[in-house]
Amino acid sequence: MILNETESTFKLRFQSIKDGAGSHSPSVLTLKSLFPELDIKIDACFLSNPYATELFMKRFELDFSEIATIRQRLEYYPSQNSFIAEGIAHRIDIKPEHIFVGNGAIEIIQAVIQNFVKQKLLVILPTFSSFYEFAQDHLEVVYFTLLKEEDFYLDLDRLRNFIKYENPDSIVIINPNNPNGNYINSQDLLLFIEDHQHLKNIIIDESFIHFAYEDSDLKIKSLANHSSRFENLIIIKSMSKDFGIAGIRAGYSVMSPNRVKSLLKNGYLWNSNGLSEYFFSLYSEKEFNEEYESVRKKYIIETKVFIAFLSTIENIKVYPSMGNFVLIEIINGTKAIDLVVKLLKSYGIYTRNCDDKRGLIGEFVRIASRSYVENLKMIEAIKEVME
Ligand SMILES: *Cc1c(COP(=O)(O)O)cnc(C)c1O
Repeated sequence: MILNETESTFKLRFQSIKDGAGSHSPSVLTLKSLFPELDIKIDACFLSNPYATELFMKRFELDFSEIATIRQRLEYYPSQNSFIAEGIAHRIDIKPEHIFVGNGAIEIIQAVIQNFVKQKLLVILPTFSSFYEFAQDHLEVVYFTLLKEEDFYLDLDRLRNFIKYENPDSIVIINPNNPNGNYINSQDLLLFIEDHQHLKNIIIDESFIHFAYEDSDLKIKSLANHSSRFENLIIIKSMSKDFGIAGIRAGYSVMSPNRVKSLLKNGYLWNSNGLSEYFFSLYSEKEFNEEYESVRKKYIIETKVFIAFLSTIENIKVYPSMGNFVLIEIINGTKAIDLVVKLLKSYGIYTRNCDDKRGLIGEFVRIASRSYVENLKMIEAIKEVME
């Protein structure tokens, strides 16, 4: 695959913007303002369910059809953390004192790592970079690397041995994992948690759990309701991906009441904004949830089809994923950045190369599943470019 002249010129500027954004990809909004000439038609970099965004927007337009109702959300203080937690508690059937609300899951990751992890943190690579970036100088971080030869599958026995050898006080598991989408069965993970009660913190990031399933009924297998049994269990959940509302900044965590109390004493009392409180009010509403369930299932099935189609394209290897995204490896010598640049500049499809992801050696691109029509367009474009 060869870049033409406009693609090559674009590549230089794009690369420098990416470098400036650190380990997270620049948002579509940032790209649009920096490259007004760029016609981005499909954002497959952001890992969200587009149907859930539609559902949310439909309700939003209805509820805020009058400016006075928007004014209420903007003029007054939103409720405090523990009040918003009550609504979430009701929805997920967990006692409110276990729930901590975050200004996005990112804020919770920072709060947990900087307040509760004291010595040595085990991070599984590849990962969502914030987990080690927030570890700063006070922590030792040890890395357990998933193997390409094993399709980045998490071998829990190998992990158990590694823990015995390294003796960390805390561990992070993202399930399904970002960026590769591998999934650990809930029963296996539960056994692992039971066997590791000597650890201070077991942090499970379930930000993509809504897209994973174990049976044909596509039921969500969250471990959040085990937090009352395990003092060291911390569940983190972003709302950005499954509801497609990253701009609102909403996430929550389920952990022991002592931990919630200590965080609230340390400055997270009033961290949600008015729109986030509005979102959580929908989240705990029965009717909204029933509608959400149907778009969740529709999207899971379409994602499965998308991944199956991608797997038929020559010159790429598609890794197994239970997320709403998939990691592909280019195996014909083309650079990941070149594929990303060509798709973006000439097809308006924004994907993510993974050159900056620790633990990924090779030419990897992560692609999110979008709507059915967008997925078909992506398949066509990638086929055209790669075959
Ligand atoms: C995107 C992401 C987050 C952060 O989500 P926000 O709620 O938008 O801050 C946390 N964890 C994982 C694994 C993610 O992919």
